[in-house]
Amino acid sequence: MNTARARFDDPVELARSIGELARPLILVLDCDGVLAPLTDHAHNSTLTPGVGTDLALLATNDDLTVAVLSGRSLAGLRQFDFDDQLEVWGSYGAERRGHASVDLTHVEASRLRSLDALLSKAVARAGDGAWIERKPTSVVVHVREADPRRGRAALDWAMQQQRELSGHTCHVGSNVLELMTRSADKGTALDALRTEVKAAACVYIGDDAPDEDAFARLNGNDLSVKVGDGHTIASRRLADPHAVRSVLGELVTGWSQH
Ligand SMILES: [Mg+2]
Repeated sequence: MNTARARFDDPVELARSIGELARPLILVLDCDGVLAPLTDHAHNSTLTPGVGTDLALLATNDDLTVAVLSGRSLAGLRQFDFDDQLEVWGSYGAERRGHASVDLTHVEASRLRSLDALLSKAVARAGDGAWIERKPTSVVVHVREADPRRGRAALDWAMQQQRELSGHTCHVGSNVLELMTRSADKGTALDALRTEVKAAACVYIGDDAPDEDAFARLNGNDLSVKVGDGHTIASRRLADPHAVRSVLGELVTGWSQH
């Protein structure tokens, strides 16, 4: 297991390891912090230059499936304009591009309204700079740009309050609290995709707590890659989205020579 004092893998060497994995292969990537550098304003973030083209080129390989698996909603992923050949999953796998949109049950819809009401109060408590994001299966309060003390207190309050409700699940991030009326996690989505394409091996690259659910589903034939510092169960590490771009570029070069 890697410790917080990260020692990063060399992108060229990592690309070579990926090239040696069994086929068919699925290459699954988180979006924010992996394909796109983190920003304060999610709607302003853009892919690292060259990444969109690399992913599209990789997806032309017959025995390779390229997938983006993000906590963002599909609507929130649209700004990245991912190539049609890519698999795109949003809301931790609850949404999938090209498939039917989420159809909540009466109970789920009613619960989502309660969660929304709760987080709307949290936003008011956090004050200026806090905002609420509404996704098909969840609501999220963001306090990154709020006063740090008020923001923290508002999240603590919401964490306490949500315990009074039932049937939902919760994702806690830095400066973020997400309450989901229908639970989804990246591990379940990864397993579904792996089964569907009958993959012999899988690579998952992610940077955040929800990505650990995906890492946990990988085995000895696979490769797990954490981007950045911090605790992880992944076996390999890359420094930042630019290093991810380097790996993708190496893969494009290597596989186009076959
Ligand atoms: Mg991320």
